[in-house]
Amino acid sequence: MTRILILGGTTEASQLAAALAKRGADAVFSYAGRTNSPIAQPLPTRIGGFGGADGLADYLTCEGIGQVVDATHPFAAQMSMNAVQACFKAGIPLCGFERAPWQAGPGDNWQEVPDLAAAMAALPMAPTKVFLAIGKQNLSQFSRADHHHYLLRLVDDPQLALPLSNTSVVIDRGPFTAPSDKAMLLNHKIEVIVAKNSGGSGARAKIDAARELGVPVIMVNRPKVTSRMVLGNLDQVLAWLDHSTRLGV
Ligand code: NAP
Repeated sequence: MTRILILGGTTEASQLAAALAKRGADAVFSYAGRTNSPIAQPLPTRIGGFGGADGLADYLTCEGIGQVVDATHPFAAQMSMNAVQACFKAGIPLCGFERAPWQAGPGDNWQEVPDLAAAMAALPMAPTKVFLAIGKQNLSQFSRADHHHYLLRLVDDPQLALPLSNTSVVIDRGPFTAPSDKAMLLNHKIEVIVAKNSGGSGARAKIDAARELGVPVIMVNRPKVTSRMVLGNLDQVLAWLDHSTRLGV
């Protein structure tokens, strides 16, 4: 039986873990270790970085991994690029498992930007109430625009001081709903949202709420990860796992 490594941290990764556990597959689940209490998986689970692409290549060889599914978040580009390099080096097949990005529809007021620096530059000049829906990793990028008030929604209570001084923090873990996100936007008098184009249904609630309220969204497009195949649903990934096992590649 080929041993599978799932690079996790998303709903898609959890879905795949459940399906592989049901099949009795030999698989390992990997978390970066960013949250205090990651969702328990029905597979053997390891937590923490591998030590770059070379560290991952060594891990793949030492652990006898035969296939890798990169089901990390679409914005976890460093891990995804490491996976491409490591699998190439170790000669192991890799596929990405990624949800489709959101598309703007009627009533949406989006300004699409390529990265977080451009998102910051797109904020109004005057002090504004911003829902900064980008997680906790990159908040310091907005410290040069500290005259705005930022609403942050984080999975864990921040243990260290935040790099932004003018904030309100909501501790919550998705999936969220449009009615509750609408109430939150109204409650905090939010005038603009900065969001990553994560795709999926759970994080979409804020976008639906923004449309209903006429709140503009600065939408950060996904970073590009080259040289890999990406599949968009569970059945495709399971079929790929079966196929690449049969081929012995
Ligand atoms: P990143 O910038 O692409 O990765 C930074 C480093 O974290 C990687 O080089 C790797 O360390 C380690 N890492 C990332 N994912 C890992 C995994 N699944 N297993 C083991 N090590 C991992 O990643 P990030 O944006 O900080 O995201 C970290 C995790 O949070 C990811 O697993 C991602 O799925 C999840 N997440 C991210 C976002 C987001 O917006 N970025 C949103 C929701 C969830 P080494 O180089 O030492 O191997």
